[in-house]
Order: sequence, then C-alpha cells, then structure tokens
Amino acid sequence: MTTLHAPSAAQNASHPSVEAAVAMAREAHLVGSTASILGWDQETMMPAGGIEFRARQLAQLAKMAHALSTDPRLGDALAQAEHATASLPATHPDRVNVRELRRDYDKATKLPAALVEELASVASIAQHEWAEARKASDFKRFRPWLERIVALNRQKADCFGWDRTHGERWDALADSYEPGCTAKQVEAVFHPLRTRLQALLDRLRGAASHPGARVPDGRFNDHPMDLATQERFARFVAGTIGFDFERGRLDRSTHPFCGGSHCNDVRMTSRYSERCLLDGLGSTMHETGHGMYEQGLDPHWIGTPMGEAVSLSIHESQSRLWENQVGRSRAFWTWAKPKMDAHFGGAADMFSVEQVYEACNVVEPGFIRVDADEGTYNMHVMIRFELERAMISRDMDLADLPAEWNRLYKDYLGLTVPDDRRGCLQDVHWSGGMIGYFPTYTLGTLYAAQLFEAARKAIPGMEEGFARGEFTPLRTWLNEHVHRQGRRHLSADLCKVVTGAPLSADPLMRHLEAKLLPMYGL
Ligand code: ZN
Repeated sequence: MTTLHAPSAAQNASHPSVEAAVAMAREAHLVGSTASILGWDQETMMPAGGIEFRARQLAQLAKMAHALSTDPRLGDALAQAEHATASLPATHPDRVNVRELRRDYDKATKLPAALVEELASVASIAQHEWAEARKASDFKRFRPWLERIVALNRQKADCFGWDRTHGERWDALADSYEPGCTAKQVEAVFHPLRTRLQALLDRLRGAASHPGARVPDGRFNDHPMDLATQERFARFVAGTIGFDFERGRLDRSTHPFCGGSHCNDVRMTSRYSERCLLDGLGSTMHETGHGMYEQGLDPHWIGTPMGEAVSLSIHESQSRLWENQVGRSRAFWTWAKPKMDAHFGGAADMFSVEQVYEACNVVEPGFIRVDADEGTYNMHVMIRFELERAMISRDMDLADLPAEWNRLYKDYLGLTVPDDRRGCLQDVHWSGGMIGYFPTYTLGTLYAAQLFEAARKAIPGMEEGFARGEFTPLRTWLNEHVHRQGRRHLSADLCKVVTGAPLSADPLMRHLEAKLLPMYGL
C-alpha cells in the first residue's frame, strides 16, 4: 500500500477561520433543513388541525436560522477567512465557500429586522387578499397591497444596493434568486428569443391553412387513465431516469415541489390528472430533475455553498431538461410507450408512439402560464419580466397593470385576455413579495437547451440510448458538470465553463424548430 500521492492532512487542512465559518454555516443549515422537512410534512401529511402550531414551529426555526446566519462572529470569521484564502485559486473549495458565505452573510445582514418583518407580514395578508381578488377577478381589490409590496421591495433593493451607473433597482431584487443577474443581461437573451419564437409561433399558427402542413394529433391529451396506475408509472419512470428512492421520496401535493433536508433525503411531490397522463408524468419528470440535482450534490460539503445548488435558474435547467429535452422526445417515448402499455394493461393500446409524442408537443397559446406548452411558455415569462421591471422602476402606474398585461398578451401571443383572473391575477409570486423571480424560469429553460446540446456532443449515441431506456450517461454527465460543482461558479460562468459559450437563445430555438416544424409538416 502506498500513500505517496495521497494529500497529507496538513495539505488538506483549512485555515481555522475557514473551519469556524463553515461550522457556523452548517449549524444554520441544520436548522433550515429541519424547517424544510416540516414544510414538506405540512404540504403532504399534516392533518388540517396542525396548521396553527406548525406556523409557530416554523416561525421559531426561521428566527433561529436568521440569528445564526447574521451572527457577528460569523462576520468576523469570514473577514479572517477572506484574508487567509486570498492566495488560493478562485475555484478552490475553501475560497468558494468563503466567497459564497460572504454573499449570503451580506444579504442577511443588509436588511434591517423591521423591514424583514414588515415584508413578511404584508406578504402574508397580501397573499390572502390576492386569493380573494383572484376569485372575484377584481384587480382593484388587490392593487393597494401590490402598491405596498412594490414600495417595500424598492426599499429592500436600496438596502442591498446595485450598480448605479450601468444597472437598475430590479437587479438588486433578482440577485436574491439569481446571484449576479441583471435586467440588461436578461434582456440581451430575451430579446432575440422573443423575435425568433414569435416567428416560429406565427408559422405554426399558419399551418392549418398551409398546403401540405398538418396539425399534430393531440387526442392522447384527453384520454382518461387510472390515477393509481399513473402514479406507479410515474414512479417507475422517475426511478429509471435516475432518482434514488433509497435517498428520497415521491408523494402527492396540490402544488408539486422538491424539497428535503440534504442530498440523502430529498422529498419531491407531484400531482396527477385523470384526463391526461402527460400532465402528471411531465410534472413528475420535472420534479425528478430537481430531485436528481439535490441528490447529486457532494455529500462531503452538506450545509456549505460547495454542497448547494448554484441558483434557481440552474435548478430549473435540470428540471426542464428532463421534462422537455428528454420527456417530450420521440426517443424517450420509443422506450416509454411499451412500458406504459405494460403498466396499464391495454388502456392506451389504441395510441401509437408517434401519437403520444405528438400529444406532448401540441402548441396552443393560452392565458395561463402554468398550463402553457413548451412552445409558448417562455412568452408568459417574458411578459412578466417586462411588467415587473416597469413596476420597480416606476415606469408604469400600477393602476395600468391589467391594461398593460392585456396589451402584452395581445402583442406576444395574439390573445384577448377575458378577465383579471385569467390575466394579471393568475400568479402568486408578486403577492408573496417575490419580484425578480419570474425570469429564472426562462433562463432555466435556456440553460437546459444549451446544456443538453453540450451533453449530446460529449456522449455519442445519447438519444439512441434513450430509446433503449439508457439514461445513466446523461445523468452522470450532468452530475459531474453541474451537480458536483456546487456554487463554484455563478450561473452565467458555469454555462461558459460547461458549454464553452455564454448563454444564448439559439440552442432552445434550434431544439424547438427542429422538433416542431416537421411535426407541423412545415
Ligand atoms: Zn421547477
């Protein structure tokens, strides 16, 4: 046995200040991850009677986590650790942990406690008011609450600060969801995306009257299938693409999500619709993408930035990639359709692989973001980005929000919005105080397409493998290039490192055009 090339303990040891900062971060993570399990329980298992006490438990844990993550001793340890790690390479785990813990510490300490409390209490009433206003389809009822949310978010942005020469206030808010993200960067990718997507949607819309063109067969989207069998089939697919059920669970909830406490205990949920198997399967594959990212994080670094996901958009890239690039592909259905038939004992025998593949990919502009297909989804997000940017900069009077919303839906999707319920009141985000969040959905979709192109280049025969049920090469590649990297790079840099190019709308558009144009006979 030789130890010649094994690094010695001395070489491996971190500076005591780094150890101290990391130990404090791990303590805060223990509290936060406990809250996360209670949150999962609340959505899946808890009897209704538990709600009041659960709220007190979660408030107590939030208070403890906040105290730990704003402890001045952490600030002191970080100041020393920054000095001690200054000469290490930028991607060295100690340097990464110190840099990212500093980012988190500054975020947590820059907001005065009074503002944090006010935001939380206004958001909780605003969410209730929003739900009532949505029921009544009455924006006027919600408007005073949105005014307060916007005013408080402007204050929040001022506490964080932003680049006053080149940037704007919105950047400071987006940074909490997408570190380093600015409105200018988002616009630089969204603008070409919108132009090319609009051209594609115009062509698809004209297909009905185009000689030789056709409309895909969507009948499988309206074909009732047994719910319990759907759940078993979705679980089978999640396991085959790589979710480890020894280190995670899949349950049902009203709104699907992925949580848990750490990489060895990931809790994801899905929901199923009797009328359309593809709804529940798509939602399960989406959450499985999130779940495999969480399970793929480095166990050595649990509770530290090196063991955490980069950002919301990179998280979303993992879910979209399995939902869209894999789950809506012909190769996937070549494998999955016979498996589905075996599960359902003939209930879908009358549909061919081609028909199921087409049903997954029908493009039909609609009013509701969460029901949107792969072709139109990003239009919904781009509309929200334009609007929230204008809200924060005060370029738009909030009284004009419904009219502006409706104008953009006409402009982007050619639709006349019938009422506020199906218009500007449909999403919970703004009422919950979340401004700067929406673009992460589309950034994630773009990263998914760009990462998938890179994986295809790196793995010969990858898609042919899908047709045989072989998904391990893709999952292993994502694990090595994305999951195991933790927060070593910011999203935009990770994209450059892994794909060799900055984020662009081109890979997504190549993916959509290559799939949809032939399907529509164009
Ligand atoms: Zn997601």
